[in-house]
Amino acid sequence: MRRLVAGTGWKMNNGIADSIRYAEELKARMRPIDASAIDVCVLPPFTSLSAAAQAFADSPVAVGGQNMHWEDDGSWTGEISAPMLLEAGCRYVELAHSERLLRFGETYAQVRRKVDKAMSAGLTPILCLGETAREKAEGRADQVLAEQTLTSLGGQPDDRVPGIILAYEPRWAIGAAEAAPPGYVEERHRALRAILREHHGREAAERTRIIYGGSVTPENGRPILDIEDVDGLFVGRAAWKPEGFARIIELVADAARRKALDVARTDGG
Ligand code: PEP
Repeated sequence: MRRLVAGTGWKMNNGIADSIRYAEELKARMRPIDASAIDVCVLPPFTSLSAAAQAFADSPVAVGGQNMHWEDDGSWTGEISAPMLLEAGCRYVELAHSERLLRFGETYAQVRRKVDKAMSAGLTPILCLGETAREKAEGRADQVLAEQTLTSLGGQPDDRVPGIILAYEPRWAIGAAEAAPPGYVEERHRALRAILREHHGREAAERTRIIYGGSVTPENGRPILDIEDVDGLFVGRAAWKPEGFARIIELVADAARRKALDVARTDGG
């Protein structure tokens, strides 16, 4: 069974003091049983990483960066490397968020190098994938997802793929009024798992976590989590306050319990 994930990217929010306040409040609100049943991560801005990692050190919440460079060091003004993230206390790194692609011109060819570096450095990449509104309207969503996935994972041995978390984030649903409809999410997650199966084999496909992001809230998250191929939630605005993320964590932990029961029932006959 795949361990579910609850993650939040803070974007350009929460300096050092606010990150510490967030951590203290989240820890006070989180039910310990929930946080130990799933993987929980927060992705603060770079300057807050060390402080957040220290503030969460006595909890199951892990910290990650929102981006990184593929080189370890050198003349790359304004960039941050995998060893720097590790030194700051990170376990995760988000790659290919749509804002990086659309506003800063990043490409999946660059993302491929970043995935490779993150994996060899021991960071867990959260690799964002998703079609635009136009690609959706043209009926090309699954083709786009296949191109993005194959470009980003190209060259990765099959047994390394489950160490990467895929975050399906339809670009038209990020920062929007509503999440993608559960039926639509189900089709895309199924398509992503089929892409993994075809190119990396059944075992890698079954073990790789595919999480959903895009206007998730504590109110709309449950039907998305109940989809078999959805392995967690990646949340922006609704988790920017600790009380919101605490509710998302509870939702994901409840889904983990339901999914474990389903597996037990199936195994039992
Ligand atoms: C995101 O930016 O990755 C995201 C999921 O944001 P929101 O939840 O606010 O749509």
